[in-house]
Amino acid sequence: MHEYTSCHWLQHGLSFENDHIEMCCLCCHKGGGRLNIADKYNGKGLKWDDIFKLKQKFIDDNRNGITDARCEGCFNLVNKGWDDEEKYISYLHFNHWTHCNCDCIYCYTKYDKINYNKKPHYKVMPMLKELFKKKLFRPGGEVTFAGGEPTILNEFEDIIGCLLKHEEVNRITVHTSGIKFSKGIEKGIKEKKLNVCLSADAGSSEVYKQVKRVDKFVKFWENAEKYAKAQQDDDKSFVETKFILIPEVNTNKEEIEKWFNLNLACGIKSIVVDIENEYCMALRKENKEVAPYLVDLSEYIINRAKELDFNLVDYNNFRYLATSHNLM
Ligand code: SF4
Ligand code: SF4
Repeated sequence: MHEYTSCHWLQHGLSFENDHIEMCCLCCHKGGGRLNIADKYNGKGLKWDDIFKLKQKFIDDNRNGITDARCEGCFNLVNKGWDDEEKYISYLHFNHWTHCNCDCIYCYTKYDKINYNKKPHYKVMPMLKELFKKKLFRPGGEVTFAGGEPTILNEFEDIIGCLLKHEEVNRITVHTSGIKFSKGIEKGIKEKKLNVCLSADAGSSEVYKQVKRVDKFVKFWENAEKYAKAQQDDDKSFVETKFILIPEVNTNKEEIEKWFNLNLACGIKSIVVDIENEYCMALRKENKEVAPYLVDLSEYIINRAKELDFNLVDYNNFRYLATSHNLM
């Protein structure tokens, strides 16, 4: 064990992007992230030795007190004792496809939806099989899915089946539109190994349609309830719905209350809140403060969540607002 400043992704993580591999998927901090592991990747022939050699270079720099400029300001950097045996993976992030059965007004795919829905992507099962066969995956980490919509991936059920079968994987998180029900997700919830984050963004069908641009409000909440019922005992931490605050679209107390009520009616006790990324990036660029009504609404959400006994998970932009305004 050596004590130095590093992060768990740099030490033991890989993020699979559309045509390449990165160290992590973090990019909203000052340094902007994007530490490349492999420039071009098509799902075949990963050279694990080369990957670990490259990671070792970053680790050695960190040990010598040199933090890569792209990591500057990242909240994952911690000073602590890191293990000396670096050659294993514990964190995998899948972000390698862009197809989706939803059309959110805040999604990066909105600029070229037709092409994003057709864009080819590689398979990850061969890589996963090899990773487990070579015993390169170790417990203690997490496998996460972003995308794109994971449940419409052809190999999604196989991937989840493979991850659930391997004891080395103790935590899986799937971000999904919630429109397509997945047996694999339901199984993972029952086994207390998989956490699903369902993208709600509204408490009424009118606002849902405005934000998601698909007419799937009823289906979404039917699926949310089915997943919630798969939770075992009193442990309700495996199913959560997410609300991204989009200024002037869904940012009023009535919409939030309706969303809270739907969660309660479905037996969901864990909620995620964030703020639209483009809005926050524009503020940062123009050096402006967040609108005061949004600060008030955020405070309202935090207090009401406490009253209603929700576990509130604060994603990056909301966490930043809440901490910078001492709301927590
Ligand atoms: S410090 Fe942040 S940007 Fe750098 S590798 Fe870790 S997670 Fe990525
Ligand atoms: S569900 Fe996710 S991937 Fe799909 S359109 Fe919305 S933000 Fe984009």
